Amino acid sequence: MAKTDLSIPSLGKKYVDLRDSIPGDSYNFSWVRPLSQVNYLAIHHSNGPDTKTPDEIAEVHINNNGWGGIGYHFLIAKDGTVFYVGDISTARANVANLNEQVLGICIIGNFTEGRSPSSSQLDSANKLCDFFINNYPDLSNVNSWDKLRGHKELPGQSTPCPGDNWPEWRIQIVEGVSGPEVDTPDPSILESQVNNLQTSLASVNQQLIFLQEALQEREQEINILKAAAAALQPVLPQPAQLGTTEIRVDTTLTIVGALINLYQIIFPPGKADAI
Ligand SMILES: [Zn+2]
Repeated sequence: MAKTDLSIPSLGKKYVDLRDSIPGDSYNFSWVRPLSQVNYLAIHHSNGPDTKTPDEIAEVHINNNGWGGIGYHFLIAKDGTVFYVGDISTARANVANLNEQVLGICIIGNFTEGRSPSSSQLDSANKLCDFFINNYPDLSNVNSWDKLRGHKELPGQSTPCPGDNWPEWRIQIVEGVSGPEVDTPDPSILESQVNNLQTSLASVNQQLIFLQEALQEREQEINILKAAAAALQPVLPQPAQLGTTEIRVDTTLTIVGALINLYQIIFPPGKADAI
């Protein structure tokens, strides 16, 4: 049995190994070839609805074509999931007379009449091909993007596969689809987030009003204190008097009276719970 496991971190959860569950023989159908014999990454389209499942495609190959298993090595679904369906050490059946030289990658859908794969499919095709070209030395002859070919570009093929628009979307597989895909958030979640933000804003506004009121009260208290200090100024002992031992009693009494007034200004009855 030919079993070549792969680890393609760039695809993350979009890489799914179906070799054990897909109908037909993923390991022994067709002959085993050394990986150094592989010269091309061959791109196909399934030439049918983009909703076709890997099992359905395998069943057509088994029941209609009479093959022992699916003819491709990989399938790429509309959402970008890459299914590993035929072991890469086997030749499979997807490019006439050149099967021992290719690794067959089929993008599910019909890309004739100007149609192109989804951006998810192109992005995953980019990552899958980049893995084999740049990170998989066992495919020693698949070492540049020149090795990426549409089925119809390979020698001796008479097929429109993978569709008339291939030259345009080939570039996107080579260069990569711009940027990572962003999940579209659920509108109801967005709405509730906006509502929460509005509630928070209203609460912040209320706190600002309270703070402004408190500031105004403080300013008033400071003004009262300034006025009290100014009123106290004439009765305070002058530096010259402080230098002598005699401070007259009536002056002392005036100072005490002023201090009591000041105390009442600072701590008026009922002020304790102002804020
Ligand atoms: Zn093809």
